Amino acid sequence: MKSISSGCPVCGNPSVNRFFKAGSNTLATVVWAESTKEALEVKKHAQDYVQCLSCTHIWNYLFDWEEVPYGNKPNKMFNKGANWKLHIKEITENLIKYLPSFPTIIEIGCGNGDFINGLAEHYKSSGYFLGFDPSYESSDGNNLFEFHQRLFDPVDDVIKYKPNLIIMRHLIEHLNSPNAFIQSLAWASHLNKLSTYLFCEVPCVDRVYETHRVADFYYEHPSHFTSKSFSTLLEKSGEIIDIKKLYGQEVITGLLKLKPSSNQLDNYKFSLNISKDILNDVENIKYEIQKLIDSNKKIAIWGGTGKCAAFMHHYEIKLNDFPIVIDSDDRKVGTFVPGVGQKILHSSYLVENPVQVLIIPTQWRARDIIEECKSLNLSFESILIEHKGHLLEFTSYNHPY
Ligand SMILES: [Zn+2]
Repeated sequence: MKSISSGCPVCGNPSVNRFFKAGSNTLATVVWAESTKEALEVKKHAQDYVQCLSCTHIWNYLFDWEEVPYGNKPNKMFNKGANWKLHIKEITENLIKYLPSFPTIIEIGCGNGDFINGLAEHYKSSGYFLGFDPSYESSDGNNLFEFHQRLFDPVDDVIKYKPNLIIMRHLIEHLNSPNAFIQSLAWASHLNKLSTYLFCEVPCVDRVYETHRVADFYYEHPSHFTSKSFSTLLEKSGEIIDIKKLYGQEVITGLLKLKPSSNQLDNYKFSLNISKDILNDVENIKYEIQKLIDSNKKIAIWGGTGKCAAFMHHYEIKLNDFPIVIDSDDRKVGTFVPGVGQKILHSSYLVENPVQVLIIPTQWRARDIIEECKSLNLSFESILIEHKGHLLEFTSYNHPY
């Protein structure tokens, strides 16, 4: 179920004003009905536009991407008007200032390919020009660019093609999660260690404030960018070169150098180190567990659900390796360890059936468990916990528990 509480697709904030409750209407563009009957029978979809109180973005929180058949029907855009052609010329000239002489340029959602073709023409095909679109519209003809009839993957495709420039014109207003998409482009560009520019162009709804026009709001556009929400979006993914309102303030364009934030880069470095350590530590503990099994000592694990079950999963413990699993919680006793299969026994079982080694996967509860063992007069050669790549003696090693 779609919910406002999942937050603004630009900034994540869930506090909104119910901006325009538009009821249920059919798609407005991606239909191309061939008769009145067909046009009247098109399915209707709920439209409830809300405005973010932080970044002022407006979106239809009931939008479902699956309801727009981009793979079957083209999203035709009229590109021939004289002023529009001038607009295209102006943005093309601005973009090429930032590019090398033999650029790789990708247009996502290239439609019939006019724009990327124009750039390829400008460079006299001296470069690598690619267009991605799930619609059929540009799948034939004498294109100067390589056409891919599919959705663009913002990570894998950036890593694969290493573009100098990514273009998204009249596209991000169609996306479910524009922020996630653009931040993914920024992250993938960082992994490429290459300077990649992003050029975005979207319809701007600032003029709705003065005109109160509602024709802007149709299902295929779940997102409506104000100049503030557009800047908020781009700021999250790099260094903004320029943001301009063009074509009589009706569209807004942004050029930025894609770059993750310094906070993300710091966190990545930190996370990468920890994840490498965890990988090594898991292997080391598996080795120590095998040594315990080979020792033929009698061993029990305290706890068989939650973290204790996860301990057995991650260290690939088998039923026969450690058949004794105990717990003092009567609700768990008599049930079986998920995914491993031991029947969970009550801790008093150890009174009649002593073991030499006790493993406590829940380190943070170990002190209470040891107290409980004392009250049952249980003693062990070893009480082991998992800590930094080793099974440590709880009572004699230094650890934070
Ligand atoms: Zn927002």
